[in-house]
Amino acid sequence: MSSLPQDPKTLLNWSWSEIEPHYNDLAARTFSAQNVTGWLADWTALDERVSEMYSRLHVATTVDTTDKDAETRYKVFLDTIYPGAEAAEQELREKLLASGLEPKDFEVPLKKMRAEADLYRAANLPLLTEERKLAMEYDKIIGAQTVEWEDKELTISQMRPVYLDSDRATRARAWRAATQRQLADRSAINVLWQKFLPLREKLAANAGKPDYRAFRWQQMLRLDYSPADCIAFQNAIEQAVVPAARRLYDKRRKQLGVQTLRPWDLEIDPLGRAPLEPFSHVDELKKIASSIFHRVDSRFGEYYDTMAREALLDLDNRKGKAPGGYCTSFPMSKRPFIFMNAVGLHDDLQTMLHESGHAFHNFERDALPYSQQRQVGLEFAEVASMSMELLAAPYLAATAGGVYSAADAARARIEHLEKNILFWPYMAVVDAFQHWVYTHSAEAADPSNCDAQWAIQWNRFMGGVDWSGLEPEMMTGWHRKLHIHQVPFYYVEYGLAQLGAVQVWANALSDQAGAVASYRRALALGGTASLPQLFAAAGAKFAFDAGTLRQYVDLMERTIEKLDAE
Ligand SMILES: [Zn+2]
Repeated sequence: MSSLPQDPKTLLNWSWSEIEPHYNDLAARTFSAQNVTGWLADWTALDERVSEMYSRLHVATTVDTTDKDAETRYKVFLDTIYPGAEAAEQELREKLLASGLEPKDFEVPLKKMRAEADLYRAANLPLLTEERKLAMEYDKIIGAQTVEWEDKELTISQMRPVYLDSDRATRARAWRAATQRQLADRSAINVLWQKFLPLREKLAANAGKPDYRAFRWQQMLRLDYSPADCIAFQNAIEQAVVPAARRLYDKRRKQLGVQTLRPWDLEIDPLGRAPLEPFSHVDELKKIASSIFHRVDSRFGEYYDTMAREALLDLDNRKGKAPGGYCTSFPMSKRPFIFMNAVGLHDDLQTMLHESGHAFHNFERDALPYSQQRQVGLEFAEVASMSMELLAAPYLAATAGGVYSAADAARARIEHLEKNILFWPYMAVVDAFQHWVYTHSAEAADPSNCDAQWAIQWNRFMGGVDWSGLEPEMMTGWHRKLHIHQVPFYYVEYGLAQLGAVQVWANALSDQAGAVASYRRALALGGTASLPQLFAAAGAKFAFDAGTLRQYVDLMERTIEKLDAE
């Protein structure tokens, strides 16, 4: 058995025949309470390398989608290394569980491992593969949706700039063209839906679960909250957020000077101002971000500068780059990597703040000794990123280290807080709809019942926008939300995390330094603490109730009013 690679470059050419003996060695070794930490350290060293190899190969396919070699190497990894490594990792987790040992700061990781092992059924493996294939079919249907617009063939997302057109009739025409095209796939998506549902019921039955919701709960390792908590959260949103959202829609309606707000009136600036343009080159973006992070906390500033210095920020929009933005990690090198497609808009700066929150989380948790302690669920990972967006907000103005005039900084902060408030009701629709689907499986097998259920939830949460005459478009909203089809139930995480983030922000309004210090301590816990403990460490409550939500929505509304008056 050769020794482990120490250099990221040699990692990239690793083969399964070189990796497998290391897994076999770990699987064959015996350990006791006295030397389990040595075994865990060796497992971590191997896991870090396989994970970094995966990340680096994947990153290479996104920074240049035309790089055929990168694509081939990534596919070879997925075909020849990934399945073996996954199976070997599972074997090691089960070996640790079977030992009955409870190493220090492993309580939460062990709880997750037990939940995974308990849910595991060999009979479900082909079904899970089948589910992934159906998810790809959904991608194919959506990916093929294009619209003829002014002699050009545009995808649905390429139509989005048209929704910023100041001419209302043009916006309406664009919106209708896009939704008509989406409606043309109504039956194709319904057919796919009727394949997804029985497959998911079978997964649950094989694992001895009463329904797919119970299966999915455990599969997503939701160990700290229940379906009842999520339903309480939906009700809390209805009581505490929906009235605030209506007030925001009404403010927009008045600013636009229209009788009713229509779905194509939601993205333009309601005061007709030109978009904010904080930078023209990504080097400026790096300078602005560095300046802001140094003011939030000198340690975060240093982390950011390290990433800039070591070329771990790929920010500019170039031909051949994959769309979107993400933060990933290189665990052997103990470094994060940020990818985005900046074109000079405020959204890009906002994305930079968000992804940097994830990156700082990586720096902090990578200090934990074992990789099994560093796995953090989305519910808290998004607290890290969303909080950073809010913690950075006071420094957007040029006088405070950022780049904007006082008026523009206020505008950016207002838009951000409004977006946060308006997100919760939509999240509640997506969540409530799915709770209904997987507890009414016979009815949900008929897509027309799903349309009706979506309409019920839409009317309950989304008041303030006039959809009259657009019933088919409204009722099929569930067709357009990819999470519902590809990653069921995965969405409430963002709503829960946002409630955590606004609490961190509220703390910062009265004590910025104290709030930031708690936030950093929480990030450093990685995955060694439960969600209520992580939230508490960050100075927040892991909450689902209307009282908590109302308290923070009030504060957000008051802050918006104050900024509006500036
Ligand atoms: Zn994120």
